[in-house]
Amino acid sequence: VAKKERNTCKLYSPSMNDVPKKELMLENSMFKALEEEQFTLFYQPKIDVATGRIYGAEALIRWRHPDFGMVSPLEFIPLAEKTGFIIPLGEWVLRKACMQISEWERMGLPLLSVSVNMSMIQFQQKQIVHTIERAIAAAGIRPEQIELEITESIFMDNPEHTLKILHELQQLGVKLSLDDFGTGYSSLSYLQNIPLHTLKLDKSFISDIVSDFKKQMIYKSVIVIAHHLNLKVVTEGVETEDEMSIIREHNCDAVQGYIYSPPVPAAKFAQIYTEHRAT
Ligand code: C2E
Ligand code: CA
Ligand code: CA
Ligand code: CA
Repeated sequence: VAKKERNTCKLYSPSMNDVPKKELMLENSMFKALEEEQFTLFYQPKIDVATGRIYGAEALIRWRHPDFGMVSPLEFIPLAEKTGFIIPLGEWVLRKACMQISEWERMGLPLLSVSVNMSMIQFQQKQIVHTIERAIAAAGIRPEQIELEITESIFMDNPEHTLKILHELQQLGVKLSLDDFGTGYSSLSYLQNIPLHTLKLDKSFISDIVSDFKKQMIYKSVIVIAHHLNLKVVTEGVETEDEMSIIREHNCDAVQGYIYSPPVPAAKFAQIYTEHRAT
């Protein structure tokens, strides 16, 4: 009786009804999705502020799901991190991005820097440096063409181990970029300890900045500090011409945002880049 009751009870328990069905379905179909090539990388141009030229791109993953359509990484990356699937998926992203750089180079579209987002879970792996090295070698590209985007979260688990890996990656010749600076617990102490190349300022730094003097002073000061530390500064999520004029005024080095282009499929990026180079 007790057993029966438990089962009955379970059927109607609110926690059961709350199980997000889509989440479960996504979680269960990831492996098949990778095999069936449902994942794809989009690319968002990175623009040099001084010249107005495209110098690189950020690779951003998308999932073309047969039932749900285009699924955002904000939905499935956390699931992949929870299940550990981020390891094979992250490796796929690395290999794909490296191959894409090599393909663009063959098409006469050399890119100085393609950013790849890294999950903290990937840094818990001992072989991560080797994995990255292999992806670069297999594609026949130069290590400095890859920029790995990391967040402060990679220091949560085992900071000494992480720092050792970052130094090995620096030795390898890939660039390191601190993503989402200005969100969470952004601490300036990270800037002095990591072998960083780029600081990416989160969209929240500049949205609504135009009428907010204090916000402008913070933005300006962070850029000054970053430049003193020899870091390149990228502002993300730039949408308006007003924001652009403040970005120029404070000597930010590069921007990404809808004002230039959203992330687009590789073929579309090649088209944008080709047209852009011709002008
Ligand atoms: P992120 O690395 O901070 O990427 C920037 C996000 O801002 C992207 O969202 C991009 O599409 C969006 N964005 C770009 N310009 C603008 C703009 O002007 N306005 C606004 N409102 N948004 C803009 P997306 O592509 O949905 O990616 C979301 C997050 O998912 C990324 O944030 C990153 O943390 C994660 N992600 C994406 N691809 C990968 C990946 O291959 N591996 C891992 N581990 N994470 C990834
Ligand atoms: Ca990023
Ligand atoms: Ca970011
Ligand atoms: Ca992010």
